[in-house]
Amino acid sequence: STSRSAVIIIGAGVSGISAAKVLAENGCADLLILEASDRIGGRIRKESFGGVSVELGAGWIAGVGGKASNPVWEIASKFGLRTCFSDYSNARNNIYDRSGKIFPSGIAADSYKKAVDSAIQRLRDLESNCAVDIPNGAELPLTPKTPIELAIDFILHDFEMAEVEPISTYVDFGEREFLVADERGYEYLLYKMAEDFLFTSEGKILDNRLKLNKVVRELQHSRNGITVKTEDGCVYEANYVILSASIGVLQSDLICFRPPLPRWKTEAIEKCDVMVYTKIFLKFPYKFWPCGPDKEFFIYAHERRGYYTFWQHMETAYPGSNILVVTITNGESKRVEAQSEAETLKEVMSVLRDMFGPEIPTATDILVPRWWNNRFQRGSYSNYPIISNNQVVNDIKAPVGRIFFTGEHTSERFNGYVHGGYLAGIDTSKALLDEMRKHERKNENTSFLL
Ligand code: FAD
Repeated sequence: STSRSAVIIIGAGVSGISAAKVLAENGCADLLILEASDRIGGRIRKESFGGVSVELGAGWIAGVGGKASNPVWEIASKFGLRTCFSDYSNARNNIYDRSGKIFPSGIAADSYKKAVDSAIQRLRDLESNCAVDIPNGAELPLTPKTPIELAIDFILHDFEMAEVEPISTYVDFGEREFLVADERGYEYLLYKMAEDFLFTSEGKILDNRLKLNKVVRELQHSRNGITVKTEDGCVYEANYVILSASIGVLQSDLICFRPPLPRWKTEAIEKCDVMVYTKIFLKFPYKFWPCGPDKEFFIYAHERRGYYTFWQHMETAYPGSNILVVTITNGESKRVEAQSEAETLKEVMSVLRDMFGPEIPTATDILVPRWWNNRFQRGSYSNYPIISNNQVVNDIKAPVGRIFFTGEHTSERFNGYVHGGYLAGIDTSKALLDEMRKHERKNENTSFLL
């Protein structure tokens, strides 16, 4: 038998939860959330590792201390989430070469300035020539060559575009970033949000309007409603759907639309790049790296761009945890996801022995998240090509009949961030509520709003 809901929300990440909360708060309680995995949170996910809680997905609340207040920071403050200030700017004073020497600050600063100047120049060239759509990360005219140039170029482009281009998150909310270091995890905020409208007991959601392990495979849509089919053979009917699956999932064939999505929609979805960002966690029997807040971030300069370049020690967040984190992205992420943990451990140990000498101990545990190969994610976050116009994100966000889209990738100003997902969920639900009210006025005998 099939049940019919006013709204089905697909996905219980931050955007799906915030969308559902807005609907519930506006009198639309007849909703159903279908989540493919066995938990809520999506790309906000903690795991126990080496005796502490580490964040496999989002780790920072980015954009704090500015003229407007970041809503995620407000929620985190309200619920007392434990965070630590992160100062990445120190990283440039801690650049190691392959023989373990730290580059003198003068050389590092010069290389940084050169890299920023050339990145700005390249951006101007792109903008003055914006008829051609050159994707992010494409081969650019002034290509960095030495290991230190490659390392800085990688940090600039894959982490700190703010040095080159104003980023709305920093412009609106401020440039400070806080690392979440709370045993309950970043995801605790989502449970607290869900508690407002779903029935919970002892920290668990027991409401039957949230269904886990429900992988949506088909959306059959018409003027009259939508039929949603899940992998386990269940069928659900709804008047409207809010779809929060990531841009990577939309680019994949996980969900079949009948009839297919219009061309303007699929073309926009194809235009958005998917960024893969992987934090590899390593546990050691003792610390052998320099500590102190000005040493929290360090860089390894290798002739291969992005080869285990960006490092962080967890002593600030969790003193005595003896954990290091190395971040890789895109091509390197895909390469490492495809190999065994033993192979990855061998590579990272050889990098660490370059930096800190042959006698350091081997890590006793390693954790490699696989966001690219996760069929419910297919990547870490959206990345609009630098010179793409607003039309692309508007098309990605625009509803198709009764299907409304949400997720960080639909946020015009904050895509790629937790607050982007949070605000997108609110926006999408408001648009849907407007639509429902319009429909209600035209057709008075069907009321979905109380
Ligand atoms: P998701 O969290 O992906 O939620 C979508 C949900 O839909 C998922 O739970 C998924 O399982 C489900 N789903 C997918 N397909 C189906 C289907 N067919 N049927 C049913 N359910 C389905 N942001 C920051 O602000 N700061 C950071 O430091 C930061 N670092 C990051 C690091 C990493 C490694 C990653 C991966 C992300 C990071 N982000 C960061 C980005 C941030 O995590 C995301 O922008 C945000 O969590 C996305 O939320 P969402 O609701 O749009 O998507």
